[in-house]
Amino acid sequence: MSISDLKKELNQSKQIEVIYVEKSKAKENWLTEESPANVRDGKIYVLDDLPDENKLQAEAHELGHLYVEQLGVLKFDPEYGEPIDYLKLELNNALSHRFIIDILNEKFNISSDYHLHLRRKGIDNTKEILQDNDEYEKEILFGLGLKLFDISITIPDTEEEIEKIIHFNKDVSLAYEAAKTYLMQMKLDMPSEEQRQIIGNFLEKLGLSLEHLS
Ligand SMILES: [Zn+2]
Repeated sequence: MSISDLKKELNQSKQIEVIYVEKSKAKENWLTEESPANVRDGKIYVLDDLPDENKLQAEAHELGHLYVEQLGVLKFDPEYGEPIDYLKLELNNALSHRFIIDILNEKFNISSDYHLHLRRKGIDNTKEILQDNDEYEKEILFGLGLKLFDISITIPDTEEEIEKIIHFNKDVSLAYEAAKTYLMQMKLDMPSEEQRQIIGNFLEKLGLSLEHLS
């Protein structure tokens, strides 16, 4: 199995368009070195200027997002710009990444090393953000907690380092701990009502509800 098998499986329900973006158009497509691919409106955007193996993995990762969505993993639609959109983005990541990594590896024989290499940088970036003494909206801090949760469950041996960082900020720590309690309960084949219940419990711990995400 390979990336073409993954595309074939997805295309059975909907034709997926993949757009390779030139470096000069990266910014307008929300692509950066740390986030070299994304999915928007069902289309996949990938930075063209990447080594072949990384480009393949980046594209496969985004296909993986569509794949788990098709399997029924809940997803919230972030728009761009508001703090709550960052929370939605990292919630989507926390809900899906571990399943995507497993599926790519086990079913399609595609490594996630490149994704994990980029994602790992989030540990130091978050540490810097939390040490710069700026004020951040709660939703941003919750999003950072979710990001650290996602990293800790997908990259072995990061938990200890991450647990030191979360204590820099009580909202980051709150989201991280609540994610460990609730979001760890998510299963790939869970009915959506059950998923909503778990996500609702998670949000309640943060003083939010599913309505805030709709
Ligand atoms: Zn992702």
